[in-house]
Amino acid sequence: MAYEENSQQMSEPRYDCLLFDIDDTLYPFSSGLSALVTNNIQEYMIHKLGIEEDKVQELCLELYKIYGTTMAGLKAVGYDFDYDDFHGFVHGRLPYTTLKPDPILRNIILSLPFRKVVFTNADKAHAAKIIARLGLDGCFERIISFETLNPNINTESPAAVMESREIFDIISYTANSDTSIKLPKTPVICKPFEGAFEHVFKMTNINPHKTLFFDDSIRNIQTGKRVGLHTVWVGTSHKDEGVDIALEHIHNIREALPELWEAVDDKTEEIRSKQKVAIEIIA
Ligand SMILES: [Mg+2]
Repeated sequence: MAYEENSQQMSEPRYDCLLFDIDDTLYPFSSGLSALVTNNIQEYMIHKLGIEEDKVQELCLELYKIYGTTMAGLKAVGYDFDYDDFHGFVHGRLPYTTLKPDPILRNIILSLPFRKVVFTNADKAHAAKIIARLGLDGCFERIISFETLNPNINTESPAAVMESREIFDIISYTANSDTSIKLPKTPVICKPFEGAFEHVFKMTNINPHKTLFFDDSIRNIQTGKRVGLHTVWVGTSHKDEGVDIALEHIHNIREALPELWEAVDDKTEEIRSKQKVAIEIIA
């Protein structure tokens, strides 16, 4: 009986997939790229969408909170812009050369015999640049980006543009828990919404109960937990609701999750014993 249990544990490891966010997860927040992204979003709102400068900071944050990303929120409340133009403005001017190759992370990822998938709200050009700069090309079987989850989005027409005063009215009603107020629906599929996670699971055939999910955003982590993922909050050592493991830096995977490498050892042992039996049979 004990043998059967052991044998089952060996053939069915706890995890079979690692799901990674990119920004502030595969590289640290201290790189400064996130602050530049926020700045570029606000510049876009002022110079391309004509939103008053003194309202931009608060609106940017509130739309992010309600709609998952500021871009999704801007579209939901009716601003008409091209997604590629937005991404080009916000990400296209980032100083990617400040990111250096990370051979430690590359070795960690490549040494683990699990499926590895990236799930980011960013556009595919940004994702590809970051992965290339970090020296992580070839480490992931698939990169799920904005375009993957929203393939036909540029053909959808936006709703009528609201005045920013109206947007703030909606936001304040929402903050006061008036659930009878219906928010405009965003056409964008993105984290932290459960539907985006479910979509990713279907597209990639991921079993969330056997997947470790790495992200720096607590709201993404908490949704991830609700949909069945094992969660690793990256960038902090604090625990919070929905967090299984907290990592100050992605490099700390080895110390925090040694069982991942035990699974490697089990697998190697299993292969060795199968080879031994095969040799004995042939002999
Ligand atoms: Mg992130």
